[in-house]
Amino acid sequence: SATIIDGKAHAAALRQRVAEGVATFTAATGRQPGLAVVLVGEDPASAVYVRSKGKATAAAGMNSIEHRLPVDIDQTGLLELVAELNADDGVDGILVQLPLPSHIDSHAVIAAIDPAKDVDGFHPVNAGRLATGLPALVPCTPLGCIMMLKAVHGHLAGLDAVVVGRSNIVGKPMAQLLLAESCTVTIAHSRTRDLFAAVRRADIVVAAVGIPRMIEGGWIKPGATVIDVGINRTDDGLVGDVDFDSAVQVAGAITPVPGGVGPMTIACLLRNTLVAASRRAGVAEPEL
Ligand code: NAD
Repeated sequence: SATIIDGKAHAAALRQRVAEGVATFTAATGRQPGLAVVLVGEDPASAVYVRSKGKATAAAGMNSIEHRLPVDIDQTGLLELVAELNADDGVDGILVQLPLPSHIDSHAVIAAIDPAKDVDGFHPVNAGRLATGLPALVPCTPLGCIMMLKAVHGHLAGLDAVVVGRSNIVGKPMAQLLLAESCTVTIAHSRTRDLFAAVRRADIVVAAVGIPRMIEGGWIKPGATVIDVGINRTDDGLVGDVDFDSAVQVAGAITPVPGGVGPMTIACLLRNTLVAASRRAGVAEPEL
């Protein structure tokens, strides 16, 4: 049966490398890298994410700045805060926690963030830089996935990869990263006619759908590497988009849910913040 990819261990190692890089940065510049996280409203899941991001930021030796805004803040008020954070020299990273309330245009808010501080990598400039092979800030979840894939395979060139899901947050940037590693990439989505066939020929399967246990072991090519991004709350607890119990029998390597992709996402946010700080300060970028 498959090797279980230990996302917690990968994340702990990355957090350690970031913490060392932060110490070097702080010694060189006389200040800590700063990450500002903005939470609008009281959504409990978002509040949990924001709290754990803040804790991890401080634990890595960075300055964690939290802004909590009432759910009825208008778009102008939120854009004013973003402008303040853009202008604040002590802020290297800005993250506006999504989803935003429906009266706010999240595209406009993301576009207002200074691309140099866009540690989520959602700004169109960063998406375009990733797509054209320029240095970019890359979305944290797909970045964590590609790091684990490189740890499993070394080189990815020539491998057949399928990404199931085409969101701006996960699916599309994941496909770009695999393409940049010279994989042959298929992007499947809700309108794909033969998802089974697309999955079946893939050496790498990345599932980012949001449907519990949708991809079954019988779909997977024997020996393939399976990265399960899905986080679905069910009566049996948290499950992925992949049916782990059947897939683990067939795959060569697989990420569990929880304990796979999730922990790497926050570690990559810390990495992006240190990278953004280094670029802004003009100091050498650490190898992370
Ligand atoms: P999304 O809802 O924005 O996108 C889902 C995608 O799945 C869409 O592109 C859609 O076309 C595709 N899809 C829907 N039904 C399908 C079907 N029947 N067959 C094939 N494709 C189908 O979701 P998202 O933000 O990309 O997140 C996907 C999953 O990943 C969710 O479970 C989410 O909770 C999880 N997630 C996890 C992390 C993490 O840190 N581990 C981060 C972000 C998202």
